[in-house]
Amino acid sequence: MTTISNHLPTAELQALDAAHHMHPFTANSELGEKGARVITSSKGVFLKDSDGNEILDAMAGLWCVNIGYGRDELVQAATRQMAELPYYNTFFNTTHTPAIALAAEIAKLAPEGLNHVFFAGSGSEANDTNIRMVRTYWAEKGQPEKSHIISRKNAYHGSSVGSGSLGGMTYMHAQGGMPIPGIHHIGQPDWWTEGGEQTPEDFGLARAQELEAKILELGEEKVAAFIAEPVQGAGGVIIPPATYWPEIQRICDKYEILLIADEVICGFGRTGNWFGATTVGIKPHIMTIAKGLSSGYAPIGGSIVCDEVAEVINAVEFNHGYTYSGHPVCAAVAMANLQIMQDENLLDHVNNVAAPALHAALNRLAEHPLVGGVNAKGMMASLPLTPNKETRASFAMDRGTVGFICRDRCFANNLVMRHVGDRMIVSPPLVITPEEIEVFYTRAKTALDETYKTLQDGDMLKSAS
Ligand SMILES: *Cc1c(COP(=O)(O)O)cnc(C)c1O
Repeated sequence: MTTISNHLPTAELQALDAAHHMHPFTANSELGEKGARVITSSKGVFLKDSDGNEILDAMAGLWCVNIGYGRDELVQAATRQMAELPYYNTFFNTTHTPAIALAAEIAKLAPEGLNHVFFAGSGSEANDTNIRMVRTYWAEKGQPEKSHIISRKNAYHGSSVGSGSLGGMTYMHAQGGMPIPGIHHIGQPDWWTEGGEQTPEDFGLARAQELEAKILELGEEKVAAFIAEPVQGAGGVIIPPATYWPEIQRICDKYEILLIADEVICGFGRTGNWFGATTVGIKPHIMTIAKGLSSGYAPIGGSIVCDEVAEVINAVEFNHGYTYSGHPVCAAVAMANLQIMQDENLLDHVNNVAAPALHAALNRLAEHPLVGGVNAKGMMASLPLTPNKETRASFAMDRGTVGFICRDRCFANNLVMRHVGDRMIVSPPLVITPEEIEVFYTRAKTALDETYKTLQDGDMLKSAS
């Protein structure tokens, strides 16, 4: 990897960053005092920072760089497309080959019956599309009052007003007037934290049945859709018990509720199939996509829509769209990404090489006194940290205190692992090799040891009562 040295010294970059750049999901004044880490280049599963450190990115950016960094095919696709047609819209009776090709390719890869794509610039935009699309669908079918959408607490569906309302993050709802009316949140299938003495199976069933209770409370004639990730990502990589999804599917079928699978993280190989819906065995009407669609090389998202919904929406003028819906450069980049995934049999690599090696490494980390267990599905996983493995107890300190310490120790050891509360999150590029997973293991083990030492020294290993 080449070191880019023709930039200002790190401290000057950090000062300019602090003076002018407002970071997302960040207390900017606090960050400004410490200085942000400046990432300068990347290759494969590694990042390089302005001080020359080589960092293993076990988060694939934000769960998106599935094919790894530095793939020239995507650079070439963008270059060619920029020269040929850098931009044109798809609004006014026009189209272009990158959008045509990508929509057709996505329809080919998607489960049966999901054959139509509405493009957006991001996952948030796509979920905003979904809110309007499902409400329009029922209105066109003569049921305009069937407009309420049920989601889940601790869900993440984006950060715009619409998608943030679908999400169930209370700290987001606390700012800026969310959720919008007509969105309801039921409990999440997080057995580790909330399951208590119940078996995972009983707990999963009970959480699914909250959907039925909510539908009956609102009235089935009022409920348009249920939205959920097959496996919650940003919520903490929460893998539902096996009883959960079959019961959700039964309830959606029974009450004629549209099922929206948010595949922004699960889609494009993350769970070992093209889509998480296949992994958990459900039949969604709409799937939200973004992130891995282009491996993050260009911003693009969308909604994959089933024939039945598309037929109704296509029969009217749907007054919705984005300037960059189906952006030609982003579409060409996404197409090159999907080409690589297929040419290199990336799903085989995930299922036969990367995921088994990752799970083995995580199981070794679970022997650490701080790690309560492993939640893993394909190439997404979480390690819950706990002062007591037997009881799955939380720490006596505020939730997230220990996770934050551990994330810091990971960073100090040139490893990117994120924390959600006191859970450490892993979602590496799908192309990661067993040798690189061994590097991951060694750095994670060191970070856990250092975290444990800090907790011991600070008398912080106590359980919450
Ligand atoms: C990241 C994410 C989104 C939002 O996507 P953006 O591109 O950040 O707008 C939506 N849903 C899920 C499940 C996500 O992980």
